[in-house]
Amino acid sequence: LFITFEGGDGSGKSTQAALLTTWLEGQGRSVVRTREPGGTDVGTRIREIVLHHRGEVSPRAEALLYAADRAQHIATKVRPALDRGAVVIQDRYLDSSVAYQGAGRVLGATEVRDLSLWAVEGLLPDLTILLDLDESVARTRLDAADKVFDRLEAEKQEFHGRVRAAFLDLAAAEPDRFLVLDAAASVESLADSIRSRVAALL
Ligand code: C5P
Repeated sequence: LFITFEGGDGSGKSTQAALLTTWLEGQGRSVVRTREPGGTDVGTRIREIVLHHRGEVSPRAEALLYAADRAQHIATKVRPALDRGAVVIQDRYLDSSVAYQGAGRVLGATEVRDLSLWAVEGLLPDLTILLDLDESVARTRLDAADKVFDRLEAEKQEFHGRVRAAFLDLAAAEPDRFLVLDAAASVESLADSIRSRVAALL
C-alpha cells in the first residue's frame, strides 16, 4: 500500500504522516515512512542543491533534479518496500512536481507529469492525501515555527496560489486516488478522517 501526502508548506503533512505511521504500526503493519526530496543518500545531496541553491538552478534543471531524486528514491527504497509488503507513507511525490514545477514554475502540468512518470516507471500511489490550506493560514503557522523565511518567502504569493490551484486540479481529475482535507481543521479530526479512509484500504 503506497500512501502519499501532498499540500503546501505548513499544511501539516509531516504531523499527519507521523500520526498515521504510529497508528498503522499499532495495527501490526510494517511501515516505511519517507519523503521527497531527500529520501535516499543521493536524494539528500539533490535536496541540498534544489533547496539551498534555488536562485541558481534553472526551472528545467530544477524539474530534472526532482525527477532524479524521485527515480532514485522509488527504485532503491519505495519499490523494494512495497514488494516486501510494507506500507509506504511518503511526504510529497509526483503531484508536488506537477504543482511546483509544472504550475509554480509554469513548465506545464502534462510535461512535468510525464517526466515524473517516466522517472518512476509509472508508479502511482494507492491513496494521496491532499492537505489543502489557505496561504495566509500557512504563513501564520510557519511564522510561529520560525520557518516562514525558508519556505514561503522564497517565492511570491502568486507562485503559492498557482501551486494550490494545481493540487486541487489534480485531485479533481483523479477523485478516486485523492482524499482532500481542509488543513485548517484540528490535528485530531484530520487524523481521524485519514485513518478511516486508510482503514478501508487495508
Ligand atoms: O515538504 P518539504 O518541506 O520537504 O519540502 C521542501 C521544499 O521543497 C518546500 O518548500 C517545497 O516548496 C519545495 N518543493 C518544490 N518542488 C517539489 C517538491 C518540493 O519546490 N517538487
